[in-house]
Amino acid sequence: MVKLRHLVAGNWKMNGSRSMAAALIAELKTQCLSGGGGGVSADLLVCPPFPYLIHASEFLMGSNIALGAQDCAPQESGAHTGDVSAAMLKDCGCSHVILGHSERRTDHGESSAQVAAKAKAAQGAGLIAIVCVGETDSQRDAGETLKVVESQIVNSIPAGSTTANLVVAYEPVWAIGTGKTPTAGDVAAVHAQIRKLLVAGVKGGEAVRILYGGSVKPSNAAELMAVPEVNGALVGGASLKAADFLGIAAAC
Ligand code: PEP
Repeated sequence: MVKLRHLVAGNWKMNGSRSMAAALIAELKTQCLSGGGGGVSADLLVCPPFPYLIHASEFLMGSNIALGAQDCAPQESGAHTGDVSAAMLKDCGCSHVILGHSERRTDHGESSAQVAAKAKAAQGAGLIAIVCVGETDSQRDAGETLKVVESQIVNSIPAGSTTANLVVAYEPVWAIGTGKTPTAGDVAAVHAQIRKLLVAGVKGGEAVRILYGGSVKPSNAAELMAVPEVNGALVGGASLKAADFLGIAAAC
């Protein structure tokens, strides 16, 4: 098992405003800069909604906190009203983009093939694709977790993915925003399976970071972040408060 530096990524979803982004990022910067990094040794990433990316990139100047988006189009440019290309995200200062989040798969019917096309476009534009996978409640109850996750990994990760342009996030759908989390043992089993698939199918797959996401909070972060092959967290609700987000990062 390769020891990897943790990444803690904040998915703001469709929350916030320009003033909220300014205030939250200012607080993150202040706390990270105080007391030798504020006790945070993980890499930090914030992913605000599209309209605030350009502002966020300015607010983040002078910090080590990276910027990401929550989706991108599979096409490079053209007649795709309402879509945003990976090159535009890069132009706004993004280094990462979340793809295949369960809310995109559910609300917009995104298939793994579409997620792979988006990830390919993102990587082609020089972004790191954070590809999300995870089983629903009923799939878990049917004992299909590993099968579902394997199928999503195999079909959502494009050829040409490497350690440098891919992060995977395991997010059980039933754990997102619910306050429920899998046991450490269950997380370990899924992450071990993902690692096996990455080693077999991705160049440098042993060093691709695998994040856990789903109701991560400061109170459960230490236990979840200590699970073997957990290389960080994808955080929704708790990323909207600087103290909670940094509390999670400090537990890595
Ligand atoms: C997410 O949306 O990716 C997520 C993990 O949400 P929460 O942390 O709120 O469960």
